[in-house]
Amino acid sequence: MSPHGAVSGVSFETDEETSLVLSSLDEFIEQEVKPLEADLGERWSNPRKRHEDDGRFVPDVLEAIETVRKKSAEAGFYAMNLPPEVGGDGVSNVTWYRAMRHVASNGPGLTEHVLAGPEGPKPLLAQAEGEQAERYLKPCVRGEKSTAFAQTEPGAGSDSPNMETTAEKDGDEWVLDGRKQWITNGPYADFVQVFARTTPQEELGRYGGITCFLVEDDEYEVSTLNNAVGMVGMQAELVFDAVRLPENRVLGTVDGAFYDAMEFLSLGRLEIGARALGHAEFLLDRGVEYAGDREAFGRPIGAFQGISHTLARGRARTFAADAAGLRLAWLLDRGEQAIEESSIVKYLATNVLFDVADGVVGVHGGNGVAEDNPFMNELQTARILRIVEGTDEIQLNTIAKELGVR
Ligand SMILES: Cc1cc2nc3c(=O)[nH]c(=O)nc-3n(C[C@H](O)[C@H](O)[C@H](O)COP(=O)(O)OP(=O)(O)OC[C@H]3O[C@@H](n4cnc5c(N)ncnc54)[C@H](O)[C@@H]3O)c2cc1C
Repeated sequence: MSPHGAVSGVSFETDEETSLVLSSLDEFIEQEVKPLEADLGERWSNPRKRHEDDGRFVPDVLEAIETVRKKSAEAGFYAMNLPPEVGGDGVSNVTWYRAMRHVASNGPGLTEHVLAGPEGPKPLLAQAEGEQAERYLKPCVRGEKSTAFAQTEPGAGSDSPNMETTAEKDGDEWVLDGRKQWITNGPYADFVQVFARTTPQEELGRYGGITCFLVEDDEYEVSTLNNAVGMVGMQAELVFDAVRLPENRVLGTVDGAFYDAMEFLSLGRLEIGARALGHAEFLLDRGVEYAGDREAFGRPIGAFQGISHTLARGRARTFAADAAGLRLAWLLDRGEQAIEESSIVKYLATNVLFDVADGVVGVHGGNGVAEDNPFMNELQTARILRIVEGTDEIQLNTIAKELGVR
C-alpha cells in the first residue's frame, strides 16, 4: 500500500465512478448540447455567420455557450474537479483528465463549453474567501458568471514577470494601471483575474512582488479583439486605467500571486493535454472513416500505405501521449507538483494533435481544406495550443532544466 493512498501503482482501468461520469456526459451532450447546435444551424456551423464584423460572437451563439455552461453546472459536470465546499464535486485529476479528453473527442463545437476552460473557475480562483467566494467564485462554479486570466501583455508573454502593469497602494485602495493582451474570454467576462506588479523585482525578486486582483467588467475597457486565426472572437486586449480597487479585491496573497499560480500550472497543462488528445482522437476517427470510403485508382485510399501509416502513426503517438497524461494526472492526485511531467505532457500532446491534424488534412485531400470541414480549423487550433500556457520552447526549457542540462 502506498503512503499516498489505496493504489500502489497506476491503474489504467477506468474506475466505476469515472465510467458513470463519461456515460452521463454522453447523454448530456446528446440531450442538451446537440439540439442547441442544431437550433443555431448555420450561425454555428458557418464561421462567417458566427461572428460580428469585429470578431465577437453573435448574441445567439453567446447565449448558447452560456446555456451549455449553466446546464452543465446544474448537471454537476462543469467544475466537478473543484472541492464540494465551493460547489464542485471533488473528482480526482484522473477523472477530470479522462472527462476532458472524452468531451474533446467530440471535436470542435459547443461541447467545448461543457467543462470549465479558461473562462471558468480554476484553482487560482478557488482561493477566494468569504464575500469574494460569494460574489466571484460560486457564481462561476454555477456557470452564471464567466472570468478570464490576464497575465500576458504587449511587451511580456513568456517573460511575464517582466510585466509593466502595476498596482500601487493609495490610502485603503489599490490603483491598477496597465494593458493586457490575448486574454481568453476577455470580450465577454464578468470579471477578470489580473496580475500586476506590486513590489519591484529589486526588492522581492523576479517571481515575488506580483499580486492578483479581481476586476469587474465595468472597471476596464475591452480595447480591441486579438483575433487568432482558428479562434476568432475569443481573445481581447484589456486596458486598466487607474482602476481603484478596495483591499478585498486581492485574490490570494499580496505579492504572492506568481507562486500561487505556479502551484496550479501543472493542472492547466494537464487540461490542455487532455483537450489536445481528445481532438486527435476525433480527427483519427474521421480519417479512418474517410480512408475506407474514398476511392482512388480503383481502391479505398486506406489501401495505400502512405495513408494507413499516417493514421497508424497518429494512433501510436496519441496512445503514448495519453499514457503520459494519465501518469501526470495520477502524480497530481498524489499531491506532487510534477513540473517536468506537465511540460512533457503539454509539449507532447499538442504536438501530437498538430501532426495528426496535418495528416488528416492530407488524408482528405482537397476536402481537407474545405471551409465546411473542421480539419484546417483543428490544425490552427493545434498550433495555438502549442503557444498558450507556455510555448513549445518554454516547455523544452523546463524539461532541459529538470534534466540538468546547463
Ligand atoms: C489564442 C491565445 C489565447 C491566449 N490566452 C491567454 C490568456 O487567457 N491569458 C493570458 O495571460 N495570456 C494568454 N495568451 C498569451 C500566451 O500565453 C502568450 O502568447 C505566450 O505565453 C507567448 O508569449 P508571447 O506571445 O509574448 O511570445 P514571446 O514570449 O515573445 O515569444 C516569442 C517566441 O520566442 C520564444 N521564446 C521566448 N522566450 C524564450 C526562451 N527563454 N527560450 C526559448 N524561446 C523563447 C517563444 O517560444 C516564441 O517562439 C494567449 C495567446 C493566444 C495566442
